[in-house]
Amino acid sequence: MEQSFDQFNASLLYCDKCRKAMPVRERLLLILPDGELYDYTCQGCNSSIGSKTERAGLKQTMMKSGSGG
Ligand SMILES: [Zn+2]
Repeated sequence: MEQSFDQFNASLLYCDKCRKAMPVRERLLLILPDGELYDYTCQGCNSSIGSKTERAGLKQTMMKSGSGG
């Protein structure tokens, strides 16, 4: 019986160490002024194999300037 990996929702990235596309773990690395930097770690060998910057597009906070008047 063949197993289906359809259930896994994790994205696959090519890993140099494993020499094939591997499921990755998304980890929030740091928060930038205009977005968040995510790091992708291979679940096979735990090496960092990629990163992504997710920009805060719609979630922008309007800043009011000036007080009094
Ligand atoms: Zn790997």
